[in-house]
Amino acid sequence: MTNPPMLPYGRHVIDDDDVAAVAAVLKSPALTGGPAVDQFERALAEATGAADAVACSSGTSALHLAVLGLGLKPGDQVVAPSLTFLATANCARYVGADVVFADVDPSTGLMTPDTFRDAIARGAPGRVKAAIPVHLNGQACDMRGLRDVAATHGIALVEDACHALGTTYPGNDTVPVGACRDSVAACFSFHPVKTVAMGEGGAVTTNDPVLAATMRRLRGHGMERNPEHSSVPEFALAPDGSPNPWFYEMNEVGWNYRASDIHCALGSSQLKKLPQFLRRRQELVALYDAALKPLAPLVRPLARTGGTVGWHLYVVLIDFAAAGKGRAALMRALSARGIGTQVHYFPVHLQPYYQRLYGRHTLPGAESYYRRCLSLPLFPAMSDTDVGRVAEALGQVLRQG
Ligand SMILES: *Cc1c(COP(=O)(O)O)cnc(C)c1O
Repeated sequence: MTNPPMLPYGRHVIDDDDVAAVAAVLKSPALTGGPAVDQFERALAEATGAADAVACSSGTSALHLAVLGLGLKPGDQVVAPSLTFLATANCARYVGADVVFADVDPSTGLMTPDTFRDAIARGAPGRVKAAIPVHLNGQACDMRGLRDVAATHGIALVEDACHALGTTYPGNDTVPVGACRDSVAACFSFHPVKTVAMGEGGAVTTNDPVLAATMRRLRGHGMERNPEHSSVPEFALAPDGSPNPWFYEMNEVGWNYRASDIHCALGSSQLKKLPQFLRRRQELVALYDAALKPLAPLVRPLARTGGTVGWHLYVVLIDFAAAGKGRAALMRALSARGIGTQVHYFPVHLQPYYQRLYGRHTLPGAESYYRRCLSLPLFPAMSDTDVGRVAEALGQVLRQG
């Protein structure tokens, strides 16, 4: 008997049209800095309803560009939930700011207005300048509620939307995540495990044209090429007042965080399929919910926020003590049956780096979520039968104790 193919917890779906889109760029004059970048930025702005989108090299560089664009600096503090990928917190450290970790709702993993208030109270008075709520697993945070808290403290909100391309806000189902109605910017990742793949890639959406221009400058070394924006006209202009053709100028240090045309062509091609990717992810989530019902209360799906969810991960919360089985043993047993699982995430405030910086403290919601969570395979190319197979294997392994 041959084993069924390994089901990873997440995977990209690349079709012939994606391959053709990339091949077309490879045969074009511009591999980077060309029209495919603008096209991708316009398509993403349209998909999210934001005025502008700035493409860059990863979700991590998107977060870095956003905090740079806000002018955050040493001495400032940034609130980030502990239950997230490292990059959400690390971007504050890139600019020398400090992180204040917010707890999360243990049933959703999301930062809430209450856990936000609690984090602000633990911060230094007047030093919390920004907060980065994370739309974990694809479920959106209560942005209205977070905005109300932020507004009373003069805090800028940047959404970490890396999980939530295609999600709409609960209670506001016509507004997609990334429209930035209640935030200054939203950051996306197009790593292959996310809903739309670029290989490596990211973007920031915003409605603020000054912020967008700053981020575009900083993703390209801080370089300014428009002579009209020069701070030293004698460098920019010839004695007769005409612009020097070689003009470029740097007034602040930037990075090379550009996304290439090759990556952006893949991004645009994938973005066209976002509605079908989302639909399939939602179908699979509904199938999982039904198939896992018999395993309650040992295995429970996440509490649901409502709204249309662009599911990135399918996470269940498992009562391992009641199951009499550890998570590592469960993961190994599932892996032996060809089922890949993962834990998203180890709470960032417990990372040795952050414990050395800020000491050991307890965030009970994040720690409770972490102890119980397991991500099961979820990607659009999965079949209905795959979901049944995962649910059955999970039930069998848990019953074995
Ligand atoms: C993937 C991810 C990032 C980082 O994106 P990269 O493209 O891998 O740099 C940041 N935050 C969250 C929540 C993510 O899932």
